Amino acid sequence: MTILECPICKTKNISFYTHTKDYQYPKNSDEYAVYRCPDCQILFQHPFPKPEDFDKIYPKDYYAHVETGKIPFLLNLLDQFLNNQKWLFKPIKRSVFPYFNIIKNAEKVLDIGCGKGIFLDILKKSGKETHGLEPDTNALKILKNKGHHTFAGDIFTATIEDNSFDLVTMFQVFEHIEEPACLVHEVYRILKPGGYFVFETPNSASQLAGNKNFWRSLELPRHLILHSPKSVENLLLKENFQPEIFVRVSPGDVKSSYFLKHNMTSPAKRKLISLLLLPYIVFQYLFNASAGSLLIVIAKK
Ligand SMILES: [Zn+2]
Repeated sequence: MTILECPICKTKNISFYTHTKDYQYPKNSDEYAVYRCPDCQILFQHPFPKPEDFDKIYPKDYYAHVETGKIPFLLNLLDQFLNNQKWLFKPIKRSVFPYFNIIKNAEKVLDIGCGKGIFLDILKKSGKETHGLEPDTNALKILKNKGHHTFAGDIFTATIEDNSFDLVTMFQVFEHIEEPACLVHEVYRILKPGGYFVFETPNSASQLAGNKNFWRSLELPRHLILHSPKSVENLLLKENFQPEIFVRVSPGDVKSSYFLKHNMTSPAKRKLISLLLLPYIVFQYLFNASAGSLLIVIAKK
């Protein structure tokens, strides 16, 4: 029998958190156990899924791998800010995207786990050299067709040269990584000196995370480790990065967690609730960001 320990700090002083199912793809009726490390404030799945389970946990219609033609609201906004000179609201740019200037100034960018490359499309439009790292073969085909450079596989198997990128980004990927310390080490290696690692990941220390099974971003079995500001900071400092961590409210997470909790599937009801939740989301955004379930991390090499 394996002795349970925290995958980050290795303490054995951990506690059981919850049992949960795959609520996003209910065809899979397996139950998964989640534990919490009180030191790192992380939540983690145990045991981690094995490679032979990946077909079950990433179904064929997994949203990140399918071309839907839809562009999320925030990416549309980033596109406007970056590629439409009419937008001159600098404070808004910095508030919504604390990494805006870093993206603006970078020339050679790698997006890890880039999926179909909708973020890279926006960067390419503004003249940057865009590279995508992605394991899914269907997504890789789409990327190539759109003219992005590609690396197949993951950061441990793809051969990427030392000191080669101004910026490495990763959106909603960090929580899928079994050994985040090794990933942080690799990102440090491939960044140019003075380059930036920017990523977003759910916040396990948020109020919303306290909803346990009804926290949308818990998303088992695909999320292996849900990180806190503390665990992220420790991982980055160990590798000599200079980190800055921002906590933000995620409107999508607030809404989806509400739908999950109240088992709300009707599109009409969802639309109405989304509208009713808007003042709450704006209030949280303006006055109580510490409740936010999204971590935005900027780390300088
Ligand atoms: Zn720990």
